[in-house]
Amino acid sequence: EERNLQRLATKPAVTRDGVAVRLQANVELPIEMDHVVAVGACGIGLLRTEFLFMNRTVPPDEEEQFEVLRSIVMRAGGQPVTMRTLDLGGDKGEACFVHQFGDSVTSALGVRGIRLSLARTELLEVQLRAMLRASAFGPVRILLPMVTSVSEVRAAREILARAARRLHQRGVEFPTALPPVGTMIEVPAAVLIADALTQISEFFAIGSNDLTMYTLAIDRADERVAHLYNPLHPAVLRLIRLTVDAARRAHIPVSICGEIAGDPRFAPLLLGLGLHELSMAASSIPRVKRRIVNTDLAAATAMAETILKESDPVRIQILLDENEEGDE
Ligand code: PEP
Ligand code: MG
Repeated sequence: EERNLQRLATKPAVTRDGVAVRLQANVELPIEMDHVVAVGACGIGLLRTEFLFMNRTVPPDEEEQFEVLRSIVMRAGGQPVTMRTLDLGGDKGEACFVHQFGDSVTSALGVRGIRLSLARTELLEVQLRAMLRASAFGPVRILLPMVTSVSEVRAAREILARAARRLHQRGVEFPTALPPVGTMIEVPAAVLIADALTQISEFFAIGSNDLTMYTLAIDRADERVAHLYNPLHPAVLRLIRLTVDAARRAHIPVSICGEIAGDPRFAPLLLGLGLHELSMAASSIPRVKRRIVNTDLAAATAMAETILKESDPVRIQILLDENEEGDE
């Protein structure tokens, strides 16, 4: 079976009824790039940049970040690399960042993601300069985490423009067309203002991990409630659908990069909800691809419609299981 999965690497992810799906990789460490290339990912849908800041007392400077980002872009071989700005906080607020950022970033409802970047704009600008310079070596997209309002995206874009001016002044070469800027949709507030966010975002990336946590008010680290964490909760599925609908109305691309994107059992449902770009750990790509080539999109869409009418998460699981049996 491993060999069969390997053979899939060179095949496109196309549904039985001929719809192409883009399977991209989530990357946390540069060392994963070999694997990303080996499984035939359509680029990187989420580059988590926290590794650049781990276990050190001072943040990396522009040059250091640029070198690392450039090597990732070059390794991606012409496929797009979606670079997310620093997203500390919540489950990523570990002790290894405390020297640089204090312990304030550990709270899920505190200064995390874009909030931290906008509180420390000098850090954000350095990071954006490194990303702009890396974009000279291949297609780059910039992604903003934990957005809850239009003004955050606007502010980040202003800092991107400032970063570009600064590079110009220094005579540094980089493409005149700035990379597309996208918004992570991972807080219910962002879903509910998705129409407004499409006006200032060139793409959306749905972060279903955080979206599930904030929608259901479940801290997964708390074992007394962890069993209630469920991305198949109808509230989460409806929020995903609203996001896809807003992106479609505005004709901007939308992808999903939470853990559910890497679970083959959920692939037909996500396709049926209108998602055609999934980003996941590279190791998940072969199995998700195998599921997709065995999926009929028309049937998946009908199933998603049925599931969206359900209000009981247990019923939703049963409907998914029935669908799986039908496919085999
Ligand atoms: C998410 O929240 O779903 C996501 C992809 O981001 P992270 O897991 O890095 O918070
Ligand atoms: Mg997240």
